[in-house]
Amino acid sequence: MEVLENYIDGRYVAPSTGTYIDTENPFSGVVWGRIPRSSAIDVEAAVAAASRAFREGPWSTMTAPARAALMRRLADLVLKNVDELAAIEVRDNGKTYREMKAQVGRIPEWYHFYAGLADKIAGEVLPTDRSDHLSYTRREPLGVIGMITPWNSPLNLLAWKLAPALATGNTAVVKPSEFTTASALRFAALVEEAGFPPGVVNVVSGLGSEAGKALVEHPDVAKLAFTGGVDGGLAVYAAAAKRLRPVILELGGKSPNIVFADANLENAAHGAVAAIFASGGQSCIAGSRLLVERSIHDAFVARVVELTRGIRLGDPMDPATHIGPVANRPQYDRILQRIAMGKEEGAVLACGGGPATGPGLGEGLFIEPTIFVGVDNRMRIAQEEVFGPVLCVIPFDDETDALRIANDIRFGLGAGLWTRDVNRVHRMAARLQAGTVWVNTYRASSNITPFGGYKMSGLGREGGADMIHEYLQTKSVLLNLTDAYVSPFQA
Ligand code: NAD
Repeated sequence: MEVLENYIDGRYVAPSTGTYIDTENPFSGVVWGRIPRSSAIDVEAAVAAASRAFREGPWSTMTAPARAALMRRLADLVLKNVDELAAIEVRDNGKTYREMKAQVGRIPEWYHFYAGLADKIAGEVLPTDRSDHLSYTRREPLGVIGMITPWNSPLNLLAWKLAPALATGNTAVVKPSEFTTASALRFAALVEEAGFPPGVVNVVSGLGSEAGKALVEHPDVAKLAFTGGVDGGLAVYAAAAKRLRPVILELGGKSPNIVFADANLENAAHGAVAAIFASGGQSCIAGSRLLVERSIHDAFVARVVELTRGIRLGDPMDPATHIGPVANRPQYDRILQRIAMGKEEGAVLACGGGPATGPGLGEGLFIEPTIFVGVDNRMRIAQEEVFGPVLCVIPFDDETDALRIANDIRFGLGAGLWTRDVNRVHRMAARLQAGTVWVNTYRASSNITPFGGYKMSGLGREGGADMIHEYLQTKSVLLNLTDAYVSPFQA
């Protein structure tokens, strides 16, 4: 049994509590390790280390090109260790090795992209209303950034936060999900190997209600970057408000995927299946509400069901597997409860609807890819995030009706649109209340494109060049260029 330790101030250390949390492989059901159950004392040590590194250590005086060089080295180390890091993710969250290898393999792009911006951060010399004064601005880092990540794409979502924060000269305390802590702790060793000074990146493992809470309430944390569910996000936002700290919140979704009769329907059917069932629906951008134009509804749904029946569940390390197990038992139970709720509300099962068992599935936490038809958008199954392999199909009459249904929800993370009508594309892209609109595609994303939510799906953006400003603040400097005496009573 592996026993993992926190990474604080450049060293692996046991939690002050001396207590650990079992961590389980959701495919085999085997408890393979124990992660620290940290308390406010461990968070205090990590924030103190990050504060020292920010104010006093070599990091505080390092030039932007030198910071960028460290980030590039880190990116190269992630690439060198991609197989191992991907396997660690799979062991913890049950996603397929194929998916995690591709995802971890793209993480270096984030570090390279923001390393490239590090030496392009500049203040401005400003005009003044006094010819004998010089006025300029400095773009300064904020300090210690508290980063809290979920279990579905752990290292990837950490890169979204850490790469821009490091490029701008901040330091970090990371609290990974209690279900997927191992990858961040292994990653910390790569941070060290890359040559980052101690204290610049710290990882504290534990529960959201303990270590997470201590981090969001810590007075020396300058900003919080949180990815997770709406409830956790609201708790983080409330705690940050008490200390007037800014936040980035990347929360949940219930994204509409809208198919018009004029679309390439075969592409749209594959797109609909990928949008919801890739990663077993454990994706914030899952296209979990499939809106289908009424004239093609029955035939289109039949094709989607046919494709869904072809999905192979199995060992996530097997390249032939499409979907692995649900990532952890609490989530497995939640998904089954939501399916039961949908049935009670009168939604009709077109396929799936329960646990999946059988050859090759072993003790894994498998749920059948599930499709509900006859769904009314006001049902809870259509309004609440399931975060699992559950699709709701909702018919619509025309463009106005599709927009009404798509936007009639508290979330606004993503939206898919399948049509060949270019005018409609632009009309709808402007009116869909979502941070990302995909047209005749779904899920495409990269470090170059800003990502984030409208409405309850979040605050702020991650990704893209502008995002660098999320980790900077502006200082104005005004200088008197003369030795002239200024009366203290003159404005
Ligand atoms: P979660 O909110 O339960 O936990 C996320 C992280 O927050 C964990 O590290 C947890 O320990 C911590 N946490 C929870 N409550 C906290 C609190 N009160 N204070 C401090 N920390 C706290 O989410 P999850 O179940 O791990 O992940 C699934 C959710 O994440 C889904 O809702 C999904 O949509 C969302 N998500 C969003 C994005 C995005 O970019 N918008 C990406 C991935 C996942």
